[in-house]
Amino acid sequence: MIDNRRVLNFILDLIFPKFCIGCNKFDTYICEKCYEKINFYPLEVNPEIEDCQLNKIIVVAQYEDIVKKLITTLKYKSIKDIGQTLARITYYSTDFPQVDVITAVPLHHQKQRQRGFNQAAEIALELSVLTQTPFMKLLKRTKNSSPQAKISNKNKRLSHLKNTFALNQKILNLESVMIVDDVTTTGTTLNECALVLKQAGIKKIYGLIMAHGN
Ligand SMILES: [Zn+2]
Repeated sequence: MIDNRRVLNFILDLIFPKFCIGCNKFDTYICEKCYEKINFYPLEVNPEIEDCQLNKIIVVAQYEDIVKKLITTLKYKSIKDIGQTLARITYYSTDFPQVDVITAVPLHHQKQRQRGFNQAAEIALELSVLTQTPFMKLLKRTKNSSPQAKISNKNKRLSHLKNTFALNQKILNLESVMIVDDVTTTGTTLNECALVLKQAGIKKIYGLIMAHGN
């Protein structure tokens, strides 16, 4: 049987040949020179989240320049391969902790259907391959809320997210989980996800944010 995804990727490569997002160099989404220009974060940040449920948050880079272009291209032009590029940037630039399972901040199923994929899960899936850690869809989004980036007030943002996430499957014998998200400004979404996992009995919860924006 023909692997439809491979055929599709091949066709997409013909229509959208890979060029460096930073400098247009052919055949890679990010070249060495542009990689060196990325503004990497300190590897761990102290989350300023009230009632923080996360043991550690790793932020890879600032949401600017090349990283911003990579993420927006992944999201809005649906070039899924960029998820792999972002995962590799993460893997090689951070000290990724050992965990039982990697999961991603979920999209509401309606939004996922519109977009065709979940960008955070694309990054998480490749990280799962690179770190040889299972990927599981532990969470689901029960409310199709408007993007929280549009809500400026912090308290509103918090109440807006309450009960947005729920368990997607039974959790058995998991001690530690890494939750992956693409962009965040406050970490509130990640914390809401962590709360659900903590209530399900997971002891160590880490968060990984690809890019931090203001
Ligand atoms: Zn370049």
